[in-house]
Amino acid sequence: MAVVGFDVGNLSSYIAVAKGGGIETIANEHSDRMTPSVVSFSGPQRSQGQEAKSQMVTNPKNTVSQFKRFIGRKYKDPAVQEELKRTPYNVVETENGGIGMQVQYQNEQEVFSPEQVTATFLTKLKTTTETALNTKVIDCVISVPQYFTDTERRAVCNSAYIAGLNCLRVMNDTTAVALAYGIYKQDLPTPEEKPRNVVFVDMGHSSLQVAICAFNKGKLKVLSTASDRSLGGRDFDRVIFEQLAKDFLDKYKIDVNSKLRARQRVLVEAEKLKKQMSANATRIPVNMESVMDDKDVRSGMQRSEFEALAADLLKRVEVPLKAALDQIKIKLEDIFSVEIIGGSTRIPAVKEIIKSVFKKELSTTLNQDEAVSRGCALQCA
Ligand code: ATP
Ligand code: MG
Repeated sequence: MAVVGFDVGNLSSYIAVAKGGGIETIANEHSDRMTPSVVSFSGPQRSQGQEAKSQMVTNPKNTVSQFKRFIGRKYKDPAVQEELKRTPYNVVETENGGIGMQVQYQNEQEVFSPEQVTATFLTKLKTTTETALNTKVIDCVISVPQYFTDTERRAVCNSAYIAGLNCLRVMNDTTAVALAYGIYKQDLPTPEEKPRNVVFVDMGHSSLQVAICAFNKGKLKVLSTASDRSLGGRDFDRVIFEQLAKDFLDKYKIDVNSKLRARQRVLVEAEKLKKQMSANATRIPVNMESVMDDKDVRSGMQRSEFEALAADLLKRVEVPLKAALDQIKIKLEDIFSVEIIGGSTRIPAVKEIIKSVFKKELSTTLNQDEAVSRGCALQCA
């Protein structure tokens, strides 16, 4: 029976499995190795992944995304309250002070806990894996952000249990990545030699994690870790969104913030624009049809403009990087390499900041998207 590694990201999830001496990433029914971390409810139907993601615009009230921000937390937690400001679906406080996601399902108002929603999503990943491997899947390793508390970790395990999975271990994202790095490196120092120090920076959709690790052959030690729990790609989407919304209000007198569906559409556009700006420094046009009140809109942005809008966010990137260095007072010349993973490390300005803090060219030895899940699968190989 296969043991499977799951990386349930705030936006994107990946599955990997140890097979035939190597690690294989599993593709879903769309032949895509990435499955969006979204669960949607529509009439009697419940969908996950790609199908659910397409409902973020058409059915936003009943489409639950970013549930990872809520798992294992209390409703009154200030971070949860902050999160609620940008949550398109209804969230209520349950009797025991927990979090309830309120959706219309099978013609009833239903309230699901973040654990239940996560379980629904894990069930999808389980089925995807079973179909791909043509075997039953029970044992798994699931990654979590390194800053997750014990309660949050237990909640993830509990979700796995609800999904009929046995979670052998929850592993820090960065530890998984370090494992994936170390396992195939033939040239690591022997245990008697000075270790090789490597920095891993993972900036995903909602947070930023840094870990400095020391490698010897067959040995991995995490020297220090630091994070920003609320700095990720979605924050960049948000500043682009705000600028577009302002532009549409000025030019076309439509307030996309006043209509959930319009807001969701512009958010999707903002993320697309952000990715295009990573690859091009020229101005990228935005054209959207019937955004609101049957009005077509045009706008655009270029990288330098984005960097100015995101200046405050960009300033925060170096804080955890420096904190990880300061904790162990390591000299920069004792760092062998800086490995970047996570979608948001594709932003040129983010790369520049990482480079300038460590005074080093960045390495992409690892698959930026799949490394976490591969590390989880390795744990049980
Ligand atoms: P988290 O680790 O926070 O739970 P995640 O693992 O789901 O989230 P990733 O898949 O690592 O996150 O990264 C997704 C983020 O990366 C999104 O915000 C996405 O827009 C962003 N991203 C992906 N490609 C690019 C790109 N080319 N340029 C800029 N941002 C990008
Ligand atoms: Mg991630």
